[in-house]
Amino acid sequence: MQRSRSEIIYQTACSVIPGGVNSPVRAFKGLGIAPLIVESGAGDQICDVDGNVFIDYCLSWGPMILGHAHPAIVKAASEQIAMGSSFGIATEIEQKLASKIVQFFPSVDKIRFVSSGTEATMTAIRIARGYTERPKIIKFIGNYHGHHDALLVQAGSGAASLNPLATSKGVNLGVIADTILFHYNDTSTIRSFFRTNPQASQVAAVIVEPVAGNMGVVPPEPGFLETLREETKQVGALLIFDEVITGFRVGLKGASHLYNIQPDLTCFGKVIGGGFPAAAVGGKKEIMDHLAPLGQVYQAGTLSGNPVAMRAGFETISLIEKPGFYESLFAKTERLVQPVREAIAKKNGAGCIQCVGSLFTLFFGPKKVQSKEDLKELNEEMFAAFFRYLFERKIYIPPGSQEAWFLSSAHTDEHIDYTVDCITSFIEKYL
Ligand code: PLP
Repeated sequence: MQRSRSEIIYQTACSVIPGGVNSPVRAFKGLGIAPLIVESGAGDQICDVDGNVFIDYCLSWGPMILGHAHPAIVKAASEQIAMGSSFGIATEIEQKLASKIVQFFPSVDKIRFVSSGTEATMTAIRIARGYTERPKIIKFIGNYHGHHDALLVQAGSGAASLNPLATSKGVNLGVIADTILFHYNDTSTIRSFFRTNPQASQVAAVIVEPVAGNMGVVPPEPGFLETLREETKQVGALLIFDEVITGFRVGLKGASHLYNIQPDLTCFGKVIGGGFPAAAVGGKKEIMDHLAPLGQVYQAGTLSGNPVAMRAGFETISLIEKPGFYESLFAKTERLVQPVREAIAKKNGAGCIQCVGSLFTLFFGPKKVQSKEDLKELNEEMFAAFFRYLFERKIYIPPGSQEAWFLSSAHTDEHIDYTVDCITSFIEKYL
């Protein structure tokens, strides 16, 4: 494959941008090839600066649920840009998008928009601490909630390969001293913590990815989320669902509906911005009204509720709420996942594919993943070979072995079937 322009651009980028990228996982570290430099996208494909066209299963890490450059989103965003792209003043579209999101989430009366998932979880933690007047938070090893200090402890995704304790240099121990860690899906340990440990009364909140997406896709085991709900309620702590990935992904009403659990706070991101920077935190009025200007929990943002992002998000949700959207998206996902599952089973190979809604991950090594512990068996070399194998065949998957893959409504059956052929041929040859 001809990639000379990509390589030149990457080299130049490296001289002015650390590592040549603006988010670490884009650097293709450990994959043995130069990073992709993309120029455009349309539907289920992206085109690099050398003119190579790839079927895309990364979809900007999830937001592009309608595929790239969907005409309705292009129209809505362009109209708004022509009317002014940022004012730093309230606009009607913020209220319209907030009202739209709220109707699908019974546990959410009010929403505050921010510009990234990181800000959403950071704000959720601050609200929880302000509301409960308690210091401690609980997070799960391998869950990732963005790159702010308090939660950058044993995080997943790109952060997983850095220093395993604080996950990043520059995070002072004092800042993470109130962050308590548990293994994902370890229901009995967390239950006994809440019932027997005196620190339980100091817990402001438990934050969890209701379906983990940052150690690959790991569904909650039965009883796990239920236990978090019951135990937090008992001690007066808040339960925060980080639905930055799962919101509008595992279904229109998110993971809270799928698993029938009502959290106290919910973080949104990705899909709600329709491909533009937007995220949000929402919850019951009594809790959300602790935010400034009504309450004493401060949060602000120059570009928060940006009208272009709000228009794109509003248009996106207007399309995905149409009857049949998710049935069709999930059928497409099954079309890809099922034959891969069968191919793994046929080889009795060391691997598995885990899927919830339109999110899935193919793991090489473990036969089932329930927590970060199971990822000790991951075969990184095989993943790197697999990534290159697909890349050479013009299929782009997230460039990391512990990432969620995403599907859009724009993925054609023809492209999915071609992808299945490539994946199963790799499995037959190498697993
Ligand atoms: N929460 C989850 C579950 C995520 O997957 C991510 C990012 O992938 C974030 C929070 C942080 O979002 P952002 O990258 O928009 O800051």
